[in-house]
Amino acid sequence: MRITFLGTGSAMPTGSRFQSGIVVEEDGRRVLVDCGSGVLHRLQQSGVGYENISTVLLTHHHVDHVSDLMPLLKARWLAGEEHLEVVGPTGTKRLLDGLLSVHDYLDGKIDLQVREITPDEEFDVAGFSVEGFETRHSMDCLAYKFEDEFTFSGDSEAFSGLANFADGSAVLVHDCSFPDEVDVSNHPTPSQLGEALSGTDIGRVYLTHLYPHTDGKHEAMLKSVAAEYDGDVGFAEDLLSVEI
Ligand SMILES: [Zn+2]
Ligand SMILES: [Zn+2]
Repeated sequence: MRITFLGTGSAMPTGSRFQSGIVVEEDGRRVLVDCGSGVLHRLQQSGVGYENISTVLLTHHHVDHVSDLMPLLKARWLAGEEHLEVVGPTGTKRLLDGLLSVHDYLDGKIDLQVREITPDEEFDVAGFSVEGFETRHSMDCLAYKFEDEFTFSGDSEAFSGLANFADGSAVLVHDCSFPDEVDVSNHPTPSQLGEALSGTDIGRVYLTHLYPHTDGKHEAMLKSVAAEYDGDVGFAEDLLSVEI
């Protein structure tokens, strides 16, 4: 399995990190998880290409995770691609209906399949076996585990339920939006993340969903995580590709 980070930023721009997006690939199967602003551009830079993304899996519906959905749909239509499947939590159908009612010239241009999933459900997406888990965020959001190997937290506070869900994964990509000195809810600080991960067995943890507040604080953030968690932890970067 290969994962490629397209966007490791958040709702506030850092100047170097685009909004949320990760490509998961294995044996010709491919799914894009989240589709925030800049992801369409990164798809080109990564060499994956928007023509090769026919399935998008959404963690939730905040704008930094969905804002490139219409640009992706339009680019695929212009390239002569005929299909796009969007899978996500409850409300995904309403989201797509709403977007297409605003951008009504795109409605019906390609065959759009929308599928909603419920928390704690096991389902297939683009040939991958995926498990969902409800996170702690300001909006309904699902973390996903692919083939028991790769877990993506989506947006979430750190808590033991999510850490247990990820336990045993080769790679966990976890929201770590802010450094410790920022008082925050709905996202974790590094100390909180370290505490939640304590006692779990995970091959490598990548920190993502980084706000500009984290610039220049990486070393301190890693130390904070390491105070409670002794596993391998690093920062995700846009266009970093990892073989699992
Ligand atoms: Zn977000
Ligand atoms: Zn969010």
